[in-house]
Amino acid sequence: MKKFAEAAFLIACLSSSVFALDMTWNRSLQKGSSMELVRPYKALTEPQPMRKGETAGFTVDRPGFKLVLGPGALFAEADDSGAVKGLYYEGAGTLSFSVSDAIEREHLKLFVGQEALSTSVESVYILPLGACADLPTVPAGDLSMLGQADYTRFKNAFHAGGMAWLESALNRGLRGNQDIAVLFRMEGSVWAYGLDSAGGEEVSLSRLGHPPHVESWWWDAAVSLHRDRVGNLTPLQTRAEVEAKLPVDIQRFDVNLVLDGSGNALVGTGASIALKLLRPVRALTFSCSPRLEVSRVTLNGTMDLPFVKEEFSKKAFFEEPYLVVLLPQGTAGDIRLDIAYTAELCLSEMGVVALYDDSGWYPNLSDADGFQFGFKATVPKGYEAIGVGELQDRKVDGDRETFSYEMKEKVRIASFLYGKFKHTKRSAEGIEVDVALPDNANTITISQNRDKVADEIADALKRYTKMFGPIPYKNLHAGLTLGYTNLGFPSMIMLSWDVFERSGSSWPEQIVAHETAHQWWYNQVAPLTYRDAWISESMAEYASLVCLRDREGMDTMKKYLSHDLNTFTKLSDVLKKPYVEFGPVCLGSRLYTTLDPDQAYQTIVYYKGAWTLLNLAKMASFTPAGAAGFDDALKDMIATCKGKLMSSQDVQDAFERHMKVKVDWYFKQWLQSSVIPKVKVTTKVDGDKLTVEGTQDSSLTLPIPIETAEGKKKIREYLFFLKPGGSKQEFPLAFKPTIVAVDADKTCLADYK
Ligand SMILES: [Zn+2]
Repeated sequence: MKKFAEAAFLIACLSSSVFALDMTWNRSLQKGSSMELVRPYKALTEPQPMRKGETAGFTVDRPGFKLVLGPGALFAEADDSGAVKGLYYEGAGTLSFSVSDAIEREHLKLFVGQEALSTSVESVYILPLGACADLPTVPAGDLSMLGQADYTRFKNAFHAGGMAWLESALNRGLRGNQDIAVLFRMEGSVWAYGLDSAGGEEVSLSRLGHPPHVESWWWDAAVSLHRDRVGNLTPLQTRAEVEAKLPVDIQRFDVNLVLDGSGNALVGTGASIALKLLRPVRALTFSCSPRLEVSRVTLNGTMDLPFVKEEFSKKAFFEEPYLVVLLPQGTAGDIRLDIAYTAELCLSEMGVVALYDDSGWYPNLSDADGFQFGFKATVPKGYEAIGVGELQDRKVDGDRETFSYEMKEKVRIASFLYGKFKHTKRSAEGIEVDVALPDNANTITISQNRDKVADEIADALKRYTKMFGPIPYKNLHAGLTLGYTNLGFPSMIMLSWDVFERSGSSWPEQIVAHETAHQWWYNQVAPLTYRDAWISESMAEYASLVCLRDREGMDTMKKYLSHDLNTFTKLSDVLKKPYVEFGPVCLGSRLYTTLDPDQAYQTIVYYKGAWTLLNLAKMASFTPAGAAGFDDALKDMIATCKGKLMSSQDVQDAFERHMKVKVDWYFKQWLQSSVIPKVKVTTKVDGDKLTVEGTQDSSLTLPIPIETAEGKKKIREYLFFLKPGGSKQEFPLAFKPTIVAVDADKTCLADYK
């Protein structure tokens, strides 16, 4: 997913062409980038001299996709210095795209109003990523740069995700013969069809999303499927398929920072990465903290490697610039890369130093199964640097002090805290909780709330250790970010100013509980694919709900749930559509689109996912194993999936093992649908019999708890299954109830009439 997630800022201006918006990119490359890579980057993203020829027509046939082009002009990019060469066609043709997966068809409909494409095209740009022997050739002839209406626009589109496209083009050795990207335009937007066998046999259809609804341009994956071994397109990847496609395994990552008092990383700063290339790799892509300036990349401590890096743009500060490193042909096996850089990593505001980019880590080469991590920072005396893991050493040398941290557990993400700190400490479950805030962050509210936050973390640690088992850290640091983001790294939590000030967010205690839960969910067990990403967020959100309920009572949790329900049903800004209808939970980060960059992802993956677990926990109390079956399954997942990647199937299996009932239907309906059922339930007490009757408008089966009570002490619950088309069920009463309540605790996600 990362591949299409990046974007670049541009100035939008009206033009009289078929495009409502024309693109001008201000993205430039960092000084020091090697010409060896700058050339192919420019060949990819800028118009090139082309040889003009004619074609009687040809067909491009790929999974889900068919392009039939009639007689027309065919241009071939002719610059032989760059590695990237494409074909540009003008004439008349038809393009069709169709897949059978219902969720993907529905997602495409969100973008184009139809579940499949069949459209005429006047121009296309074809970038062969593999050999693509089915493409025609253009004979040698005069070079031209004139007369191609859409060509420049297609080339410009490669700026979005440019470094990933470049890596694709460079890593031809990892690609299949049929791999291809085809760019075309439809209703004023540029679209791309892709077949990428190096990226998990991905078959995708993406739209280049753009302002004015978002500030930047990025590719929305309208459709993304995988080709399995027998050639079928499927949404799911098996563990073996994911692992077979990984070309790199990082063994160890060491960061060595030399910081000044403002948090600038000075000369001497760098990262050293030990990795195993599982197959011969030509190019590696890293995402970098925005203001990072790479000066040198070396292989095994001796050989300088060519690199290219996008330059930080103040206008597009929210982006992660990318770094591509070129390895010698045929490099495989164990290697070490050293990346030397300087960086403006922190910003100082009101005397508080905090990271610009608390999510990046200087630089980042993603490796899902994690690696050993070392962090060292040399800072002016009086300052403190806190890394993830345990402090190994603290050494003063003149007016500088060096802090060394080592994380013994494998990590996938890391960050650090920097400043002059005042510490607020607690102890829970043998773990030292340390809230490290800048010593001048001393407004009355911050002083009061630093204690509150420390208490909340300690409390959550205790509860979660009971719920999920112990975590392997000796300490848990919490610090401040200046943005609005809250993040949970292994042994470290980053919280926004709002959380400490108890302003802005109306649920600061829920945020603290959510981020603490990531010590288990993501940091101990991480999702296998983006389709499984809900596990981390939904579990963290579920855990925070339990904290709210057990600390502050059921009413507080219900208040939070009704806030969730409001966001589900609120209409989005652009499409004027309720957020819940943007897609099912299983689409994960793909819910984050330019159609609605703000709310759909969080609403669906966090809230709806948590709700799914909450209702399942309720259901568990009616199963043979009782409520403990649900809790045991959670512990089991952490214990058995630790250190390996976890799929939605693993979650389902664990619940079935411990609850001793089938829950496949339950996960399928909640993870794969995008509805909130409208429900009407009535109850009737008749002698020693309770009759429950209900109707609803969805195709889901809803487990709805019915509570009967006589006074405050006598309470008994029943579970009513409301099936599609309506249900009626009778229950024997244990006593004559004075109250009968339908889903009193609101655990089943439904709109009750
Ligand atoms: Zn989270």
